[in-house]
Amino acid sequence: MARYTGPVCRLCRREGQKLFLKGERCYSDKCSVARRNYAPGQHGRGRKKSSEYGLQLRAKQKARRYYGVLERQFVRYFEMAERKPGITGENLLRILESRLDNVVYRIGLASSRAEARMLVTHGHFEVNGKRVNIPSYLLSAGDVVSLSQNSRDSEKFKEIIEKNAGRPVPQWIDYNHDTFEARIINLPERDQIDAPVDEQLIVEYYSK
Ligand code: SF4
Repeated sequence: MARYTGPVCRLCRREGQKLFLKGERCYSDKCSVARRNYAPGQHGRGRKKSSEYGLQLRAKQKARRYYGVLERQFVRYFEMAERKPGITGENLLRILESRLDNVVYRIGLASSRAEARMLVTHGHFEVNGKRVNIPSYLLSAGDVVSLSQNSRDSEKFKEIIEKNAGRPVPQWIDYNHDTFEARIINLPERDQIDAPVDEQLIVEYYSK
């Protein structure tokens, strides 16, 4: 599976805000956005004014980076969102939120989406009782995600759970901290998604 392997803090600096791609470090004063809040590269401190196209491009890139999705897959999600009834931008965000790696991150069983992706790939999670090792697996209302029996007592997960104990679980997921099971109550409405993304600009970007 192709993925971005460059320095991730650069991505946040490019977007001019924290995208929380690194887990614990993002909440510390080591965060690169907190220390160097300007775009990376030689012209990073230069002109900031963007064209309409530039704003749309940045909105799309920011969403991709926030959810850790490559361009080709992002385009596929956009096409899926267009085919669904309702508002395309909101459909797009709902699809991104319903990815298995995102849900694992949202319930605090990973410190970042990148870590969630790795843990899913390593077979630590089940969906409706069956092992699923595909981070992009799309969940539906009623699905139950659980940490596999063998992983429950591992030191690694104890550490992850402790680190993320204070992070709130979204309302659209019913997570039981004792059984490590998360039921998708329903896919989220726009006001239940806290992604720093202007989805309308993304729709405009792909509608050209
Ligand atoms: Fe982004 Fe986290 Fe790096 Fe800060 S520490 S720049 S929020 S990835």
